[in-house]
Amino acid sequence: MDDAIAKKPPILLDKIDTNMWTEPFWEAAKRHELAIPRCASCSHFRMPPTPFCPECQSQSLDWVVIPGNGIVFSYTVVTRAIIQGMEDDLPYVPAVIELPEAGGTRLITNIIDCPLSAITVGAPCEVVWNDVPSGYTLPLFRLSI
Ligand code: ZN
Repeated sequence: MDDAIAKKPPILLDKIDTNMWTEPFWEAAKRHELAIPRCASCSHFRMPPTPFCPECQSQSLDWVVIPGNGIVFSYTVVTRAIIQGMEDDLPYVPAVIELPEAGGTRLITNIIDCPLSAITVGAPCEVVWNDVPSGYTLPLFRLSI
């Protein structure tokens, strides 16, 4: 399994719910832009988007588009189908990616298109875009060469 290639997350998991705080993130993703919320009062980045800044309690937000370079903070490899019908999507790699371009905030996503043995904590990676049938676009990450 170590030489297997990390696949895209199963389409069966494509269930995105948005609200007024998260909708700008998903709308930017449809344009293939990685937009991260930053407090308009104190400039603290916060992911996921929340109604109140944890630093100053402001509700004002700016959405900052970043290039999308990250660092693998944590990951796991899924090798068993948790829902019937996703067997062909294995293995896939849910991951937490740190975003130095956004104050070190972190994004939960997936790593794709690399051998499992190449993935390490601390590895540099970059965003790639996965348009899915629901009409949304998922920001996924590939290891940087
Ligand atoms: Zn703030």
